[in-house]
Amino acid sequence: MSKKEKDFVKEITPMEEDFSRWYTDVIMKNELVDYSPVKGFMVIRPYGFALWEGIQKYADERFKETGHKNMYFPLLIPESLLNKEKNHVEGFAPEVAWVTHGGSQELAERLFIRPTSETIICHMYKKWLNSYRDLPFLYNQWCNIVRWEKSTRPFLRTAEFLWQEGHTLHETYDEAQEETLMILEIYRSVAEDLLAMPVVVGKKSEKEKFAGAYATYTMEALMHDGQALQAGTSHNLGQHFTKAFDIKFQGRTGQEEYPYHTSWGITTRLIGGLIMVHSDNRGLVLPPKIAPTQVVIIPIAQKKEGVLEKANELYEQLKAAGIRVELDDSSDNSPGWKFNQYEMKGYPIRIEIGPRDIENNQAVAVRRDKLEKETISLQNFAETISSMLDTMQNDLFEKAKAHREAHTYVVTDYEQYKKDVHEKPGFAKMMWCKDEECEIKIKEETGATIRCIPFEQENLGNVCPICGKEAKHMIYVARAY
Ligand code: ZN
Repeated sequence: MSKKEKDFVKEITPMEEDFSRWYTDVIMKNELVDYSPVKGFMVIRPYGFALWEGIQKYADERFKETGHKNMYFPLLIPESLLNKEKNHVEGFAPEVAWVTHGGSQELAERLFIRPTSETIICHMYKKWLNSYRDLPFLYNQWCNIVRWEKSTRPFLRTAEFLWQEGHTLHETYDEAQEETLMILEIYRSVAEDLLAMPVVVGKKSEKEKFAGAYATYTMEALMHDGQALQAGTSHNLGQHFTKAFDIKFQGRTGQEEYPYHTSWGITTRLIGGLIMVHSDNRGLVLPPKIAPTQVVIIPIAQKKEGVLEKANELYEQLKAAGIRVELDDSSDNSPGWKFNQYEMKGYPIRIEIGPRDIENNQAVAVRRDKLEKETISLQNFAETISSMLDTMQNDLFEKAKAHREAHTYVVTDYEQYKKDVHEKPGFAKMMWCKDEECEIKIKEETGATIRCIPFEQENLGNVCPICGKEAKHMIYVARAY
């Protein structure tokens, strides 16, 4: 490695030294975001936005396949609407940003910038819903929201972020519940199948559920540093909002009824999760399915006869096979500099092709997660690369899963856990009596929270390790972002 190349890598703080610095370095070096003049608000730059577009495309296709349509609601909502659902206003009021003036004129009623859109959507749904024949309402919007957060971190917690929020109305409770869980399954697929990020799916405790929800379901991922990340939530809102907003329809028997309501969202925070699950000290590691560019071809000794022609030929082959590919034939930088550059950017595979390779009808391929050179034949080249991408996608998922398993601990002794929580960060699996008192105690004494009551239950014993009372539910506990 030349000095220039070494310096290049050195600018990323090793994660073992300072995880939080490492995370910021990876993001800033890759120009995924930049800080804006308003504290807590981030600018998403092209490479970062391409990741969001990949998530959007994948999720949007699945929403549409399951009958949802997209709409758009206004950014500003009158104050009177916020006050309609009691729990909701209590939950969100501290984070709401207000608009008080239009030009120089003070507004008769203050407007708030949506922290989520249940209120305005319910207001409109009331106008649109008449009969059971109108149901279900299956709508989603892709938009930005603002929550005035005090401490922020790119992607993970920002005052403004991008998300989608689905809002559906149903005739019966069962249909709403089915919708809530079906969406959670779509989210699981976004996390696991697209981002190769394993998640635990389950229900939130009463204390941790969404403000105004009947029940909240979640997927929780474990980051490199052993902290959990809530990666998406789906809420069965019951009739809380539909009653508060007086949304009624004429039922099958001619009686007026309140519909059942769901809402659900995933956000740009998923990109933070993606980074903290797969990336390393050399920079980003992107699973092939989400990588904006999957393969980069780097010609070696490109001035020699035939090299660029061959590189171009390979480029065309991969492109024709539907692989997202780039050819870097710039002569400003050495191949070694380019290798570092694309390693940092997390391109899943790089192909090196030089005169000797061409002679032997082969190329060198390097997978970003392994960084080992592999000689591959140019016979069936696109097929080979395509299957390498699939294998890498799968390997990254398995690796992340193994990391999660290695950092998941069964806790039966709460006193021991209080010591271990800082030494051995990760998921703690324990039994719980379902008392909020024990939940608060965990949070106060360890800083960890109940991430979820997983669907996949195990019996780890009969007592709650916090209070010693009878326990029937297993929970996941962790410190979280
Ligand atoms: Zn207890």
